[in-house]
Amino acid sequence: MSNLFGKYDYIIVGAGTAGCVLANRLSADPTVRVLLIEAGGKDNWIWIHIPVGYLFCIGNPRTDWCYRTEPCEGLNGRSILYARGRVLGGCSSINAMVYMRGQSNDYDAWAAAGNPGWAWRDVFPIFKGSEDHYAGASDLHGAGGEWRVEEQRLDWEILNAWRDAAEQCGIPKVADFNGGDNFGSARFQVNQRTGVRWNASKAFLRPAMSRPNLTVLTNVHVTRIRFDEREGRREATGVDFVRNQEACYAEATAETILASGAINSPQLLQLSGVGPGGLLREHGVVVAHELPGVGENLQDHLQLRMAFKVQGVRTLNEWSNSLFGKAQMAVQYALYRTGPLTMAPSQLGAFAKSDPEQHSANIEYHIQPLSLDKFGDPPHPFPAFTASVCNLRPESRGYVQIKSPDPHSHPVIQPNYLSTESDRRVAIDSMKLTRKISAAPALTKYLPTEFLPGADKQSDQELALAASNIGTTIFHPVGTCKMGPASDASAVVDARLRVHGIARLRVVDASIMPSITSGNTNSPTIMIAEQGSRFILEDRRLGRVTAD
Ligand SMILES: Cc1cc2nc3c(=O)[nH]c(=O)nc-3n(C[C@H](O)[C@H](O)[C@H](O)COP(=O)(O)OP(=O)(O)OC[C@H]3O[C@@H](n4cnc5c(N)ncnc54)[C@H](O)[C@@H]3O)c2cc1C
Repeated sequence: MSNLFGKYDYIIVGAGTAGCVLANRLSADPTVRVLLIEAGGKDNWIWIHIPVGYLFCIGNPRTDWCYRTEPCEGLNGRSILYARGRVLGGCSSINAMVYMRGQSNDYDAWAAAGNPGWAWRDVFPIFKGSEDHYAGASDLHGAGGEWRVEEQRLDWEILNAWRDAAEQCGIPKVADFNGGDNFGSARFQVNQRTGVRWNASKAFLRPAMSRPNLTVLTNVHVTRIRFDEREGRREATGVDFVRNQEACYAEATAETILASGAINSPQLLQLSGVGPGGLLREHGVVVAHELPGVGENLQDHLQLRMAFKVQGVRTLNEWSNSLFGKAQMAVQYALYRTGPLTMAPSQLGAFAKSDPEQHSANIEYHIQPLSLDKFGDPPHPFPAFTASVCNLRPESRGYVQIKSPDPHSHPVIQPNYLSTESDRRVAIDSMKLTRKISAAPALTKYLPTEFLPGADKQSDQELALAASNIGTTIFHPVGTCKMGPASDASAVVDARLRVHGIARLRVVDASIMPSITSGNTNSPTIMIAEQGSRFILEDRRLGRVTAD
């Protein structure tokens, strides 16, 4: 027996990147009652805010769901950690803070696939509208929005040399990314304010927290969406959740909105009986509406981290391995908000083509003045840098599926990395390009020596195997509640983000991307939530509730 917690116009499930934007925009009208429910806790831990603290947030149940993938054939049978934020701000509270919009042809492809309103010319003003760029308003950037974008506050000789070396290999230096074509190298801009992480919670939720029409619940896990039949159609009426070990439900008189992210939104739909019929029946879930695309189309960027020993130059490895270095970092941060504690993991970025036939940049580099055996391990005791490269437009597709009807059990996550010939080709070519850059004259004086995966891997076959052995997520899963027209059987939501076949239910988060953006996915998710909020408010004015 559940207790009624309350009645709201809108219930938002998940206070992550998208959920924080939605809560702000929907509660701006004081007559609209909004309930925002987050499974994790408050974002009040110091390591969420000190940028380098992502090292302590990832893999920590205080802030992370601590998922793992299934063993993946393309990764030589390895199962990998799959971090997802579980705290106010969601992944924006534990991510690497890189501000990136993706490239124009990503969005033009979304529109061409039958999603009006999502072309680059449509979304570009939305990106600018949310933004508060350190250099002020310009043709490229916005100012006065909530989403703060700043330059990084430290410089590394070895990264500047890598940038020169990339230029010597045909990758031009550009002043800025984000104009629609990212080809080139630049210092990443980051979501920080004066050396402190700027997550979606600080940007969008905190300014709205004191509104009497917004209720925010933390440490509350939503277990199911409720449905009803009205006037011959199925519609969402609210959610069940567990609060202080008590079963409760809340009613949504206007809409229920899933903003639970690319793993949990499809999981919650499946648990509620919306998904592939066979899968639901296999786990004894009563089918409320058969929608085969729920959980399918999982896409992610696989990073190949190649590490090089260097000489005669300082890197974070030696700095963070010495007591004096650690003390120096702490003082720099405490007094001036500068130094390595302000560090996003990657300071330098580059977009390139793995082969000249690519129509636009199809690989992204994240260059780091450090090296580790694996995430969570201490940096190596010798100077080194890491050149991480990822395929931005992978063809491999995976899935998310419930394992049982228990809402607390983790779902199956199978990214199927490197499962196509073309993805393996891009992996091999991009590793060759990385080697070419490290051998360019600008880096010669530092005597770079590749130790991961190791210069002995030379043939295409050896490189393909090396990619399988070192490849890991760069944490960008998307696509599992794909946006598309009703004529596309694999689509989950329409272009206004309404779930096909069910009234008063939307998904508004990274899971709706039909194809992954060719860049980091946080700011595209903010854009999706801005666009979703507009649709919701517009449909409210017009009294529209269904997708089809
Ligand atoms: C380690 C890491 C590094 C990254 N680095 C970058 C980067 O540098 N730049 C970039 O652009 N992108 C980066 N990303 C990706 C980016 O942060 C995500 O794409 C984006 O945050 C996704 O937003 P979302 O709203 O879809 O989901 P999330 O931010 O994951 O939000 C979902 C929220 O829903 C909550 N939730 C889920 N299920 C339930 C439930 N049943 N009940 C209640 N609440 C629930 C979750 O706890 C979470 O808070 C990174 C991600 C990670 C994890």
